[in-house]
Amino acid sequence: MELQINKGVISLIQGDISKQDTEAIVNAANKTLRGGGGVDGAIHRAGGKAILEECIEIGGCETGDAVITTGGNLPSPYVIHTVGPVYRDGTKGEPELLASAYSSSLKLASANNIKSISFPSISTGAYRFPLAQAAEIALQTAIDYLRKHDDIERICFVLFGQDAFDAFEKKLKQMIP
Ligand code: ADP
Repeated sequence: MELQINKGVISLIQGDISKQDTEAIVNAANKTLRGGGGVDGAIHRAGGKAILEECIEIGGCETGDAVITTGGNLPSPYVIHTVGPVYRDGTKGEPELLASAYSSSLKLASANNIKSISFPSISTGAYRFPLAQAAEIALQTAIDYLRKHDDIERICFVLFGQDAFDAFEKKLKQMIP
């Protein structure tokens, strides 16, 4: 499914983010940047040790921020590592921090002249953010960014399971005017 916003396109696909050939893929990392499970594990496994070495050099990343490394052996030249919030009860700033993880990643992409970027569904795995709300925040942040910026041509959401794909598809359909 695709939606054109201003100069850019938002697309939803089901698949493995480590196989995407957009200029950047986004890693749902943790604050230590030392690797982990889920998307993080898949990206480091497929990308090789160069990515981890760069992450160690950077040192860490706060929740809601993003950092960039090369893509190692991945098809994408860059990996943007962002840290989404751990979901507690929704009153600890989780929605704002999740939006910030997406917008920080997009700003870093723009700053590096990156025109196409793939996101996983940040925070909805081990960090337990409710999927429907997370999908709405992810899509709204991407739409707002494309409305205000002309440089990014494609934002892909690469959803790993049917549940995640269905949640994003349902929200995107509701958001189309
Ligand atoms: P977080 O710690 O931010 O919750 P996880 O990696 O645990 O991150 O999960 C985030 C989402 O990414 C989940 O919906 C999970 O199913 C999905 N996911 C796991 N592996 C991959 C992959 N290889 N490509 C894309 N999405 C993935």
